Amino acid sequence: MKFAQPTSNEQERLQALLDYEVLDTAPELAYDDLTQLASSICGTPIALVSLVDGNRQWFKSKHGLEAPETPRDVSFCGHAIHEIDVFEIRDAHVDERFADNPLVTGGPFVRFYAGMPLINPQGVALGTLCVIDHQPRELSSDQRKSLASLARQVVSQLELRKSLGVMKKQFEELKELTGKFREQQAQLMHASRLASLGEMSAGISHEINNPLAIIAGTIPMLESLRFDEEKFRSRTTRALSAVSRIERIISGLRKFSRSDSTCDSATWVDLNSIIVDTFEIIGPLNSKIGARIIAPKHLNIEIHCNPVAITQVLVNLASNALFATETLAEKWIDLRLEVNESGVFLRIVDSGAGIDEKIQSKLFQPFFTTKPVGAGTGLGLSISKGIAEVHGGSLRYVPSEANTCFELFLPRERVRTP
Ligand code: ADP
Repeated sequence: MKFAQPTSNEQERLQALLDYEVLDTAPELAYDDLTQLASSICGTPIALVSLVDGNRQWFKSKHGLEAPETPRDVSFCGHAIHEIDVFEIRDAHVDERFADNPLVTGGPFVRFYAGMPLINPQGVALGTLCVIDHQPRELSSDQRKSLASLARQVVSQLELRKSLGVMKKQFEELKELTGKFREQQAQLMHASRLASLGEMSAGISHEINNPLAIIAGTIPMLESLRFDEEKFRSRTTRALSAVSRIERIISGLRKFSRSDSTCDSATWVDLNSIIVDTFEIIGPLNSKIGARIIAPKHLNIEIHCNPVAITQVLVNLASNALFATETLAEKWIDLRLEVNESGVFLRIVDSGAGIDEKIQSKLFQPFFTTKPVGAGTGLGLSISKGIAEVHGGSLRYVPSEANTCFELFLPRERVRTP
């Protein structure tokens, strides 16, 4: 008897076989259909998809056979994988290589064997698609051709399995990365809100000091003005207006610091109130810069959003605009609004002459900033874009405008005119 020998590329072959992750897996219809076809085309009771492993041949599909595997050294397939075409033993009883083979002298009593090697696209033989009979016989040339094409179908199935495996792994990796990205984005949003709060609080405490000074100066004076009703009234009115100014600033701050930036707390809100809040919040910063603010008033539009998050976007855009106009002779910010069948477009245009083409592509990258150290985090635009996208909208720089322009878009389903 001649024992099956390892192939010349045995290590590479075994690794290739492992890469398909098919050994010891459950039966699959696609392979069973192919062995069923091979058996019926070749007229044999047995057909197998046999994968030749280190010490065994393992059957991914077995038509007409019970055993899940047999030892490799006595296997016919162990011989067939050295060939490139159908390996055929017409009568094992008269072939000295197989006559005393235990698979011939005992179960499954192989008499006839024909196996087409399963050669993968890299030229590596993984096993065979083989047919077996208990009688001597000979395949016709058509049957040999069919067996060869069915073997190619088996290889295609294996390749498909491998590609699916790779895709599954990539999908899992992508899922994990997306999770990590979301986590980081949430942390960045938090960090950025804290950073913007920090930046703002300096300006705000300055702004609160002014009305406080008015109140502090007025109170001691009131006693002496008790008998001068007109002066008394004018001083108390001034003090009360200072108090309400402080209240407005504090309420803006509260709103800004409280909720998250996601869409979970979306509700229908009046666009006017978002615009008023935005300019209220940037008021302290603008009191230093003195830009003219142009904004639409008395709009009859509601948008479905997380109002704090959308206010945060507009505050980011408006404070960037203020910062950009600080050194210009002409300083203005214009909030332009357009509603059409696709949704609502809010454009923050400032008196700057546009952004250098070279940095336009970097604007939305996290941490990209041209502001001096300590003045900017470089997170405002990237986070604002994230917020717009969470709302199903977008945020972009509009290069076609003569002045610097950023556009926040929210889709139609988020807009209503009550
Ligand atoms: P930060 O304001 O902390 O720098 P942003 O992400 O908000 O971070 O902005 C990134 C960069 O985009 C800014 O540093 C600036 O270079 C540019 N930029 C944003 N808005 C304007 C604007 N209105 N005019 C000019 N440059 C702008």
